[in-house]
Amino acid sequence: MTRIHNDPADFAEEALSGFALLHERFVRPVPGGVVRRRPGPQGKTVVIFGGGSGHYPAFAGLVGPGFGDGSVVGNIFTSPSAQYAYSVGRQANRGGGVIFSFGNYAGDVMNFGIACEQLAAEGIDARSVIVTDDMLSASVDETSKRRGIAGDFVVFKVLAAAAEAGAGINEVERLGRKANDRTRTAGIAFSGCTFPGAVEPLFTVDRASMAVGLGIHGEPGLETVPLQSAREIGELLVRTVLAEAPAGSSGRVGVILNGLGSTKYEELFLLWGEIAPRLADAGLQLVEPEVGELVTSLDMAGVSLSLVWLDDELEPLWCAPVETPAYRKGSAPGADSGSDDDGAVADAVVEQIAPGSPVSQELAAQVVALTTAAFTTVRENEDLLAQMDSIAGDGDHGRGMVRGLDAALAAATAVAAQSAGAGSTLARAGDAWAEHAGGTSGVLWGSALRAAGQVLGDDDAVDAAGVLAAVDAYAAALTRLGKAVPGDKTMVDAVAPFAATLHDAVATGRPLSEAFLAAAASASAAAASTADLLPKLGRARPHAHKSLGTPDPGATSFALIVTTLADAATHERKVHVE
Ligand code: ADP
Ligand code: MG
Repeated sequence: MTRIHNDPADFAEEALSGFALLHERFVRPVPGGVVRRRPGPQGKTVVIFGGGSGHYPAFAGLVGPGFGDGSVVGNIFTSPSAQYAYSVGRQANRGGGVIFSFGNYAGDVMNFGIACEQLAAEGIDARSVIVTDDMLSASVDETSKRRGIAGDFVVFKVLAAAAEAGAGINEVERLGRKANDRTRTAGIAFSGCTFPGAVEPLFTVDRASMAVGLGIHGEPGLETVPLQSAREIGELLVRTVLAEAPAGSSGRVGVILNGLGSTKYEELFLLWGEIAPRLADAGLQLVEPEVGELVTSLDMAGVSLSLVWLDDELEPLWCAPVETPAYRKGSAPGADSGSDDDGAVADAVVEQIAPGSPVSQELAAQVVALTTAAFTTVRENEDLLAQMDSIAGDGDHGRGMVRGLDAALAAATAVAAQSAGAGSTLARAGDAWAEHAGGTSGVLWGSALRAAGQVLGDDDAVDAAGVLAAVDAYAAALTRLGKAVPGDKTMVDAVAPFAATLHDAVATGRPLSEAFLAAAASASAAAASTADLLPKLGRARPHAHKSLGTPDPGATSFALIVTTLADAATHERKVHVE
């Protein structure tokens, strides 16, 4: 239960401002997160951690001398937007390039990837190092699909120590990837966590059971087994992690026994008493082990064991001194050394809006009307979408869609009132959606709408060919970014038949409003039949079997929205899309 909040929607933001107030010696708030109050030397490679809130001390608690140069902070369990990542990257940059590091979640991969492209366009070398330590989330043949959990801390530590020691961006990246390749984590959950303002936890584990294979976003465990003694839990965790010892290891390992949020330190110590001797019996030498809360999941009860198999390169980096708000080690230069950042980096330039042609301005008003209709539909279906997403995902799809469309509508309304054309109105709506929805679907909708808007433009009336081109641009952007194909159980399963039916219906000469209705019907049917599919991408993939029988939430919300748009377009004779 999370009890202390004002409006639950503001929880993450308000928590971050209290944190920044308390730790102003270490961090300076910037749009999208925090950076070090006293940045490293000019030319330093900067290392920025990020992801959603709810994982403290990850991620903002790890900013300071020896550790992070900045942190990008999203909403609870929600990827920060690409704009946030770009903003923090720009503010933290010291001229030596930027490395973003984060756990492997689709939303984060996309948002940080877009931010890297945006920074590169300004001549800043920016790269992502993605953490994939959770052995139980995918098999050893598919390590690139594994989630990032407490092993985040290991990879962050190595990257940051290398950067602090003056390594260039190639070397920092290489060492971070090596640390990730040599880190394995297995975890167990005893109870789910509860979102601020929510009454029920995201999942429950009955008192007599434990869930093996925890996630850190309230994802249910992969397998539920009877609750075991500390001895058996210790044995299970050690056996699981050692099963994947990398070849050619020296036998020296860094270790983390991580508490997920409401597991007591005394319980962790007791468990450590079971784990340390077993690791020693396996012939391992433990190097500066950590027992405590390093990567949490709100108030979840659970533990995970991470090992990093060290070598001569990694060991000094694992042991290097650090001083941050949440974590200290050895004697780091200290937060008070160096000079304060004057915050001189200008805020990101906001793209100016040129007025659209009169006909495009009228169309922009239609975009606003249709966005309003979509918002209403998604609000009405929020609970349904949340429930679908909670079966195998993290339950936030309903909220994310409402938040995204709410922001999209506000942005579209604002720019249309400033005489924007239809294309800019749609593009800005997309940007706002991506920024505020969080989650994978928000990033995808945002980029796809921006792409559609660019095709519509701000000058011309839009005929059937124009609508088809915009829909194609939407679909292309979606697949370019998300890399899903039909059958993966994602939005694409509804988008692809929608686009195909629209093309066919227009080609046979049906009026656009009728073609749109037919396309929406295809999307609805296709979304419903995703119930028979196993997810191959996204958060639901590790829980693939649980999702059988439930349609994909993103495909469902897409179908609901296009059905609403088709109805609105059919009844609204003024629509300039005939
Ligand atoms: P998150 O998974 O980050 O919590 P949401 O819950 O808002 O995001 O959205 C989940 C939906 O996003 C899924 O049901 C799926 O339709 C869609 N999705 C996830 N990954 C992809 C992808 N790579 N390509 C297309 N759609 C995706
Ligand atoms: Mg979700």
